[in-house]
Amino acid sequence: MPLAQKRERRSKVHQVTLIPGEGIGPEVTEAGQMVVEASGAKIEWETVEVGAEVEKRYGTSAPDYVFESIARNKVAYKGPITTPFGGTYRVNVTWKRPGTDPEKVRSYPSISVALRKELDLYANVRPVKSLPGVESKYEKIDLVFFRENTEDLYVGIEHMVSEDIAESIKIISRRASERIGRAAFEYAKKHGRKKVTVVHKANIMKLTDGLFLKSVTNLARDYPEIEIEERVVDNMSMQLVQKPEIYDILVLPNLYGDILSDLAAGLIGGLGVAPGANIGDSLAEFEPVHGSAPKYAGLNRANPTATILSMIMMLEHLGEKEPARRIETALKKVLKEGKDVTQDLGGKTGTREMAKVIISRMS
Ligand code: NAD
Repeated sequence: MPLAQKRERRSKVHQVTLIPGEGIGPEVTEAGQMVVEASGAKIEWETVEVGAEVEKRYGTSAPDYVFESIARNKVAYKGPITTPFGGTYRVNVTWKRPGTDPEKVRSYPSISVALRKELDLYANVRPVKSLPGVESKYEKIDLVFFRENTEDLYVGIEHMVSEDIAESIKIISRRASERIGRAAFEYAKKHGRKKVTVVHKANIMKLTDGLFLKSVTNLARDYPEIEIEERVVDNMSMQLVQKPEIYDILVLPNLYGDILSDLAAGLIGGLGVAPGANIGDSLAEFEPVHGSAPKYAGLNRANPTATILSMIMMLEHLGEKEPARRIETALKKVLKEGKDVTQDLGGKTGTREMAKVIISRMS
């Protein structure tokens, strides 16, 4: 390859939308940015704010510019955002999504759900892998969750039937079930994984979870080299605690995926080390599994590992394999040494300081 061409490839600049988040979000996001910057990847961050402060100024916690930025850049990193429990809080969205009526306000239970639904980020991909030096009751965990991201009870279609009765509507479609199933099988094929487990509650929710189970299972005929099995979600919860090492790829409807992927984070050292991505056909948004942990906000003690691992996934998605490898190697060195780590991992190091040590270990 001519030198000029080589240089051009190395210096490609990627425009990425950045949502710093709330609570511990800005701290872990900043730590992740520092590490990415030092890796040699050329990212031009377009920072957009969402959340409670923004709502005071714009009348909505998720203004049009957030969606427009991600639709334009195609790739985003999102820090965690605080969502009030209960009450009437909703996120109203008005941006002109291609093919929709801009006059119609769409309403969602949280900003994360609004982003996933509006941008059709249908696959929530959450790898759960044991990390060197991170204490856990388990070893050799290597799971990947494929959580359907656009329907099921989690999208919060609910109303009060009377003052004393509330109703929530669970919608499951063949199309959404098939595309998350397809994403899981394709990932398994590409990465040489052996088994896909479909998680459901089709013994009770015979129509909704029954449709999910059938839609995913039917795809198996296109992937004869990959084993398929099913597990009822309650049994799956016990199995993940007792013998997680026998599982490989898991495909789940939205709500079970939300719950079990947090459970699985507990198998490898906690929420501080669990990364994730929301992937659609043309857009992708990367974010840690954890939330905004408000009680730790501003204390410089949150673990940046989940953010850094999510940013590694983002760099791989952008084709920046070498910077991704450089960060991963340095991060694993620091975790293995176990000295310069945050409190949740038994250390005393601050969020920012841990990022600096990771940078110092980069080759
Ligand atoms: P959380 O994930 O914020 O925190 C739960 C606990 O996990 C914390 O108390 C802490 O002990 C630990 N933890 C989480 N992240 C950590 C980190 N980086 N380092 C060290 N320890 C960490 O869950 P929560 O308390 O249930 O929720 C708090 C807020 O976050 C809520 O408003 C919730 O709606 C929101 N939330 C947002 C997202 C998101 O934006 N994607 C995801 C989950 C929860």
